This record gives sequence, structure tokens and C-alpha cells, in this order.
Amino acid sequence: MSKQDCLNKFLLQDRSARVISVQLDSVWQTAQANQPGSEAIRSLLGELMAAAVMLSANLKFDGSLLLQLQGNGVVKLIVVECRQDLSIRATIKLNHEPHANESGLQALLNADGQGRFSVILNPPRDTPGRQPYQGIVPLTSNTVAEVLQDYMLQSEQLQTRIWLATSDKRLGGLLLQRMPHDGGHTTASAESHSDSWGHANALCDTIDSNELVQLDSDTLLHRLFWETPVIGLESASVTWRCGCNRERVAAMLRSLGKQEVEDIVAEQGQVEVTCEFCATPYRFDAVDAEALFKAVSAHNTDQLH
Ligand SMILES: [Zn+2]
Repeated sequence: MSKQDCLNKFLLQDRSARVISVQLDSVWQTAQANQPGSEAIRSLLGELMAAAVMLSANLKFDGSLLLQLQGNGVVKLIVVECRQDLSIRATIKLNHEPHANESGLQALLNADGQGRFSVILNPPRDTPGRQPYQGIVPLTSNTVAEVLQDYMLQSEQLQTRIWLATSDKRLGGLLLQRMPHDGGHTTASAESHSDSWGHANALCDTIDSNELVQLDSDTLLHRLFWETPVIGLESASVTWRCGCNRERVAAMLRSLGKQEVEDIVAEQGQVEVTCEFCATPYRFDAVDAEALFKAVSAHNTDQLH
């Protein structure tokens, strides 16, 4: 498998911990291309992307996982959506232009203490009675990794450590999660299980940001666990996919209502909606806009089939 844009899962041989690593190259460059903000803000986006891919692979949830940072500083919103096939999209919304010297979650998002981090699990579109799950925690830490660690401990009761690093070309992430010592999957004593978890933590803490960004998964794992056997579980590719299309934009315009759309056309000559994630423009002129609402009855009938 290509070393680009990929995720790898491992298990320590004594089953004390699960290890997930991710390296993103072209997916990261595509994600950044249409997003605003300073280097510090884009680096938050990158960290959230690497984290979303690792959590998706960890949760094995059949739908999409959204990670959201919301705040009232320079940054209004950062959203990353990762689907179960590890296709991903991401966007940044700013409240105002950034100052060059601001960095970290607290300065960028939590100026007034109202910043929040949410994890949303959206079931697949065709699920009957589709209800998303949402978990929200306040922003008490200064890094994405720390916020996520807190979240995993509070919501999932799972001891999880996360390391994230970004450069303008690449993202790297590493997740270490303690496995329960009860399922009968291990012959090791509780004490050696605990020692092994502590040792794995200490090893992963020796990785610096440069290594995390630069090294491919095999090299990273060898660098960390050369004397501790690990079992490779899974490798998967990560892709960028927005998923926006004209029909979804049309549905959004219909939900605004006929009057509102007519007002925009009267004022601007057309309605133009630009996708926040991939910057694709969707234009509806006066004729298109009228057709949106004429087509409603036919559209509804179509959906019965
Ligand atoms: Zn799009």
C-alpha cells in the first residue's frame, strides 16, 4: 500500500493496548487549499483531521463521525467529517481576520470561556428513525490532543493518549488506547498488563513532532516498539471526498422558502452558493430558482418509487 494518506492499526502482543497511526499528505493539501486562516488555525484543522480519522477507525461506527470546535475568538467553527470508509472533508469558519501571533485553542477559540468541543455520530442516511448522537465538552485544555483525551476518558471511559503533529505538507497522528484486562483475551496478570500500558506510554512520549510528521507508519512503529512485539491488524487508505452536489444545494434552497430565494434573485440576479468544504460554486439563475419550487411536487412523487 502507498505510504501516502493511510491509517494503520496494531495491537501490542500482550493485548494491553491498541495503537493507531495516521499519515496524511495529499488529503491534507487538498483540505487546506480552500480554507482561510493563519498557519496556527490551519494546524488546528489538521490536528482535528488526523484525530477524526483515528477515532473513526477506533469506533468502527457505521455512519459518519463529526468533530467540531466552536468558539467566539478568531475562530467560529472548525468541522471535520470522517465517514466509515475513511473519506474525509473539513472546513474553517472565522469570526474575523486572525492576528499573526495567536495560537492554541484557548487564544483562538475560547477567549470568552464559551468554547466547546463536540463529537457527533451521524447514523447512515437510510437508517430508520435516524438520530445523531452528540457529546459536548468544554475547552479546558490548550491542544486538540488533550481535549480529545479528556473526552475519551469522560464519555467512553477509555484511557486514550493521542499525539498529533502538522506541517504545511503532512499530518501525523498516533493513538494509544488501553485495552480492558477482563475479556479473557490475555494470559498476562493485571499487574503486567498495567506495566505494559505504562511502558507503551513512555515509549510514545519519546516521539517528537518532526518524527510524527515525517516518518511512515512502519518506521514509526519500529522506532517505538522495536523490542515489544506488535501485531498488525489493518491498513486502510484515507481519501478526500466532499459529497456536495447540486441536488443537495437545491434541497437547502427549498428549505429557505420561495420568498427568500426570490428576494435573493431580485437583488443579485441569481443565487450563488459556494460549498464551504471544497469551494465548488453552485449557481441558480432566475429560471433555475423558479424551477426549484415548481419541481417540488414532481420531486416528492419521484421519491415514492
Ligand atoms: Zn463540496
